Amino acid sequence: MFSKRLHNLLPLPFAALLTACFLTACPSSPDDKAGGETPCPRAEDGASLPSPVCESLSEDGLLPPEPLTIRSGRIKNGEPLAAALVRLGLSSGQSSEVIRALDGIFDFRRSRPGDQLRITFQGESPNVIEYRASMTREWLVTRGADGRLHGEARTIEASTEVAQVDITIESSLYEAMRAAGEDPSLSIDVADVFAWDIDFYRDLRRGDRLRLIVEKERVQGQLLRYGDIIGVRYIGGLVGDKTYLRYKLAEGGEGYFAADGQSAKKAFLKSPLKYTFITSTYGGRQHPVLGFHKQHQGVDLRAAEGTPVWSVADGTVVKAVKNDRAAGNYVVLRHANGMETYYLHLSKFADGLRPGLRVQQKQVIAYSGNTGRSTGPHLHYGMKRGGVFVDPMSQNFPRAKPLPEAELDRFHRQTEEVARQLLGLDGAPSRPPVPEAQTPASP
Ligand SMILES: [Zn+2]
Repeated sequence: MFSKRLHNLLPLPFAALLTACFLTACPSSPDDKAGGETPCPRAEDGASLPSPVCESLSEDGLLPPEPLTIRSGRIKNGEPLAAALVRLGLSSGQSSEVIRALDGIFDFRRSRPGDQLRITFQGESPNVIEYRASMTREWLVTRGADGRLHGEARTIEASTEVAQVDITIESSLYEAMRAAGEDPSLSIDVADVFAWDIDFYRDLRRGDRLRLIVEKERVQGQLLRYGDIIGVRYIGGLVGDKTYLRYKLAEGGEGYFAADGQSAKKAFLKSPLKYTFITSTYGGRQHPVLGFHKQHQGVDLRAAEGTPVWSVADGTVVKAVKNDRAAGNYVVLRHANGMETYYLHLSKFADGLRPGLRVQQKQVIAYSGNTGRSTGPHLHYGMKRGGVFVDPMSQNFPRAKPLPEAELDRFHRQTEEVARQLLGLDGAPSRPPVPEAQTPASP
């Protein structure tokens, strides 16, 4: 751990101070933008417990200690580091001293608005200056035994843990993730894994359950980011029971596969709408499909303006037309086997989208909107098969290549533990899956 390293590097009082500081107040707090000042309580105040920082300094035997003050703030837009240091209470001479100490260690061009600064003064003297660009990139300037400031870069190691997340759907995946105490961005990662099977805007039912085995990278206990989803199981009233396990293929590459080796992928995605936060403005309700009509040549998927639109399959842009009177801004893609897809009423295209461009499945080609003859924000999604419009939502597409037979053993060995953990989410779906074609029971 880096606090141990600091003990080795620094004269003791500073080491003690920094350890204390990082264990208490240092981690980034999004709301300290204005900057603040934390004077140490003096012993005779007696009102509150003295902070560990103050304690450590009074123990070093140099009495009476100079009062210790911590000031913190963030780099403002266009503000050079030297100016920020002065704003936080350094004289211009002290500021230059800090800049000199960081010469050759800190790349001043990489200073960004929002980066955090924290200065510990002993009396009038800035003795510790911390610069935090991110949870894993920090620079430290400390006053050494020689009375001079010394700079160093610090790389903070993130640790990775594997966590299990269980959620139950009330309204949306996004809300359920938040209710489970997770960052809602995790819902986008989940939707990505199931993109060929589940339309997370429409296919969810109240009471659906999800278990997720996911890597979490942490720095000092705080979540830095999610890593890979290692395995995920969804038990849904409409979509049934689906489990996918992440697997690195022997020949290289990786993907998600069901326990029998079937790929999670298909030639076409379930829906062209990428799952994202924007839609939470709809209160987490499922988005209705206004239905497929032959004369209408597609389905209307309600979508908040600006929802990213995916290419549902690998293909080539045939048309990218702006301001059509009926279709507004629209895109037509051609895919293998004479398939075509249509995306209408878009607010804008992705950068660089033009006829002739090759696009990949799951590439964001545009953003949904309300252009042309449209009565509300939605995506009109059409599909042609052999030159004839078909209902894109009721097509069945074959899965991508399953795992080779010869690799199944290896797959099972590597995913055994995660698979068992996912099996622990047992029980029947809240409603049985709806069969593909319903045959009315005869009396
Ligand atoms: Zn339409």
